[in-house]
Amino acid sequence: MAATYDFLVIGSGPGGYVAAIRAAQLGLKACVIEREHLGGICLNWGCIPTKALLRSSEVFHLMHRAAEFGLSADKIGYDLPAVVKRSRGVAKQMEGGVKHLLKKNKVDVVMGEAALAGKGTVSVKTDKGTEEISARHIVIATGARARELPGLEADGDLVWTYKHALNPPRMPKKLLVIGSGAIGIEFASFFNTLGAETTVVEVLDRVLPVEDAEISAFARKQFEKQGMKIMEKSMVKQLDRAKGKVTANIETGGKVEKMEFDTVISAVGIVGNVENLNLEKAGVKVDRTHVVTDEYCRTGVDGLYAIGDVAGAPWLAHKASHEGVMVAELAAGQHPHPVKPSAIAGCTYCHPQVASVGLTEARAKEQGYEVKVGKFPFIGNGKAVALGEPEGMIKTVFDAKTGELLGAHMVGAEVTELIQGYVVARTLETTEQELMETVFPHPTLSEMMHESVLAAYGRQIHM
Ligand SMILES: Cc1cc2nc3c(=O)[nH]c(=O)nc-3n(C[C@H](O)[C@H](O)[C@H](O)COP(=O)(O)OP(=O)(O)OC[C@H]3O[C@@H](n4cnc5c(N)ncnc54)[C@H](O)[C@@H]3O)c2cc1C
Repeated sequence: MAATYDFLVIGSGPGGYVAAIRAAQLGLKACVIEREHLGGICLNWGCIPTKALLRSSEVFHLMHRAAEFGLSADKIGYDLPAVVKRSRGVAKQMEGGVKHLLKKNKVDVVMGEAALAGKGTVSVKTDKGTEEISARHIVIATGARARELPGLEADGDLVWTYKHALNPPRMPKKLLVIGSGAIGIEFASFFNTLGAETTVVEVLDRVLPVEDAEISAFARKQFEKQGMKIMEKSMVKQLDRAKGKVTANIETGGKVEKMEFDTVISAVGIVGNVENLNLEKAGVKVDRTHVVTDEYCRTGVDGLYAIGDVAGAPWLAHKASHEGVMVAELAAGQHPHPVKPSAIAGCTYCHPQVASVGLTEARAKEQGYEVKVGKFPFIGNGKAVALGEPEGMIKTVFDAKTGELLGAHMVGAEVTELIQGYVVARTLETTEQELMETVFPHPTLSEMMHESVLAAYGRQIHM
């Protein structure tokens, strides 16, 4: 007889495992099915192992600056396999943590590949054969994988996806990164800091194209100072692969340039894992590679939800988890609020870091807002100077009529930690007045968040 649950999740990434834990907390009998690793891409091949690698390159960079701090460090070097081993170890530890949390919350785990198999039923291919599991509520949380463009497909040797780059067969000497979104720029930053001659090609008119234009421009200058070559409005048309080298045909303004590299990382986006799930048969709509849902992640088929990367942008772990909590609460008969995309921060952990929430200045104007904009540079902040991190800026965008904080944009040290202050402000629909009245501790980088708000109203003190 098929095992029966209240709440069944396909995929154990930050969407799936969080959904299952929340459902169990609410008294639902919950199960997660996973075909590969507990914790999904995020813990195993995404957020966490990349941050572990970037931490190594950050320490390496700081060691080179030892003299600035009155310290000495000789024979600074690195051992790439050891750097990777640490990153894989961190991922493994996180996977173990998810296993423990699921067990603690009495969520059953089935390791196998799942597909929908009729109303309220899922079939799972496991090591032992195929089994059927039924549930009142089924959540598709199957995530996404790297998009492959024709001619630019990864081969694991010369051309890598993020998975190869996380467990690289060698240290690149001349590296081409195709795509300057968060994933591309983080790898460019990591390998460039360790000494790879790095070129980044971006088809749009600026690096980190979803960020505010001023932040992108600032970040670009910093990347170039670090020796990266940045090619904007450029497209890699073809990769000619030979033994140990790739010739990239890169088009800029109608002219094609041939450039040689020993390694290429393709970071041109992701596609949802929608295949082999019998979605169409179940009546679930798929738009290109993403499941179509309403704001509550409902697919339109009774009892069937889709969350996280498979349900579309923004492709972020915290968005997936928040959606997971929401669907679990819906399934338990509660009335959660839908997830507000305008209050979801995006963070890029390159050097310097970039973080933002809400509308860019240009987007706010496009939407018809009359805006007040405040900016504050890191050089005006005592803590930034004390840390030896005087390069960066914080920009805030307000609705001139109501004082609502529409967006906040940051580049510089630790901004991925700072942004959450503005996320809370956006979630609470805070105005400039409340932010100005807030007392920020001294000396902290967060004081720049205050100064940026003050600057929007001509009241900044330290600049
Ligand atoms: C290199 C990289 C760096 C990233 N860095 C960040 C970051 O810093 N911050 C951030 O917020 N996001 C980051 N992301 C994005 C983040 O990893 C995703 O947004 C997040 O993992 C999405 O969670 P999810 O639960 O939707 O899916 P996933 O984490 O992709 O998990 C889906 C799971 O479903 C399983 N699965 C799929 N199909 C089936 C099936 N048929 N049966 C059983 N199991 C199945 C998969 O094996 C997988 O484990 C990064 C991504 C990459 C690639």
